[in-house]
Amino acid sequence: MKIQNYINGEYKDPMADSWLDNYDPSVGVVYGQIPNSLEEDVDLAVEAAEDAFPHWSNTTLELRSTILQRIADLLLENLEEFARAETKDNGKPIQLSRSIDIPRAASNFSFFAKAITQFPSESHESVGLDAINFTLRQPIGVVGCISPWNLPLYLFTWKIAPALAAGNCVVAKPSEVTPLTAYMLADICMQAGLPAGVLNIVHGLGQTTGQAIVAHPKIKAISFTGGTDTGAKIASITAPMFKKLSLELGGKNPNIIFADCDYDKMLSTTIRSSFANQGQICLCGSRILVEESIYDRFKSDFIEKVAELRIGNPMDDQTDIGAIVSKPHLQKVVSYIDNAKAMGGSILYGGKELAVEGMQKGYYLQPTIIEVKDNQCQLNQEEIFGPVVTIMSFKGEDEALQLANDVKYGLSSTVWTNDLNRTMRFSKNLQSGIVWVNTWMLRDLRTPFGGQKDSGVGREGGVEALRFFTEPKNVCISFEKGKSS
Ligand code: NDP
Repeated sequence: MKIQNYINGEYKDPMADSWLDNYDPSVGVVYGQIPNSLEEDVDLAVEAAEDAFPHWSNTTLELRSTILQRIADLLLENLEEFARAETKDNGKPIQLSRSIDIPRAASNFSFFAKAITQFPSESHESVGLDAINFTLRQPIGVVGCISPWNLPLYLFTWKIAPALAAGNCVVAKPSEVTPLTAYMLADICMQAGLPAGVLNIVHGLGQTTGQAIVAHPKIKAISFTGGTDTGAKIASITAPMFKKLSLELGGKNPNIIFADCDYDKMLSTTIRSSFANQGQICLCGSRILVEESIYDRFKSDFIEKVAELRIGNPMDDQTDIGAIVSKPHLQKVVSYIDNAKAMGGSILYGGKELAVEGMQKGYYLQPTIIEVKDNQCQLNQEEIFGPVVTIMSFKGEDEALQLANDVKYGLSSTVWTNDLNRTMRFSKNLQSGIVWVNTWMLRDLRTPFGGQKDSGVGREGGVEALRFFTEPKNVCISFEKGKSS
């Protein structure tokens, strides 16, 4: 199958007629081609977006909201088709695509369809100075959205929906590794009546297509989710151009388990927070820290439960762990496992590549548990982004907090405890953008989302996303004193 760019309301081949292979990771074979878009394709997309902006930015909120809601409805009407496409492209279990990825992509649109109608702006009366100030929150213009491969449509729409709701026109690039559902979204946008040029989707490599979006002088803001190194590169290009920038980057999140927690809930949630989506979620709790008194019990129960996970064909309803997204990524994850000993760990479970029957060339890897003794080891400091977790024990609250924060990342943390005072102390002192207590990945789209330290800059989600995608302008009006005052 051939994927095309979506520019000015139409599907288009890349101008240079250059194409890239798209792989099905479950069987390790090429099943399609995607545009290898260059600067000229991005230019075309920006031109279309610029042309569409005056009209789109002046549509009523009701109309914008109606169109976005229609997109959400159409995504749900086509849920099965989208879920199967996401699973084929990414290798994730179909039950995940069906229950999380696609419903959440629809929710992103329906949430921001409503949120924009409730987005307030401030006013300040300058009492005694006879003036009133009010804030206009205006769309920025043409904005760029770049998203990764792990939650393809989920994260793509997480950016596009608020950008469009706020009245911007968008040039967006999904990951070259998982372009399929973004391609299909274009069709839905046409059916929903989104005017031509308001959303443009350009496919291609990060180094070329992505870079052309980031460096384009007419794109005024960039919302990026991806790796920390890529984020740093993007920041170095956009900073001297004074672009607005939102960066959602990598993580090495602690999952801190105290002996007083609800053990069964903790154990089943920890299985998910470790290995959901083959561990390829930026929010996964990849460093499990366990209070000494329950360490041995946890270790054996955790291994027992992990051994029950079913690894196999991502299209099978019963599969818990599907394929790793690509061969290069599989090789990266495997290199950590192969070097686990030298990096300060010993493998307690898993660590082997698997051949799934009838899918011998697919990229399958056992969920892997590595025991470590020192948080400074490479395994605990670097983001592996696969089905690999480390476990280590701690003695008390002070040590747990020190270990949790002793990393360059600061995206999310999970704490398992039933002590309210401890909950408050950890909520306050953990260095991360999100703290979950006695849960994981419970998301409310109104909340601020993003990371501290090397996990990112800025926040998206709810009103934060609408603030990011608008430019505040203060208007100060002086008025004359009347006779009565
Ligand atoms: P990358 O940083 O490699 O890529 C992310 C996106 O950026 C892709 O679309 C990629 O294109 C593009 N890109 C790559 N290089 C450039 C460049 N120089 N200029 C512009 N765009 C570029 O990340 P991955 O796709 O490997 O995703 C995994 C990473 O994403 C992990 O580190 C993970 O933690 C992070 N992530 C963070 C989340 C958060 O909310 N904080 C959520 C989910 C993931 P291409 O794929 O074609 O190279």
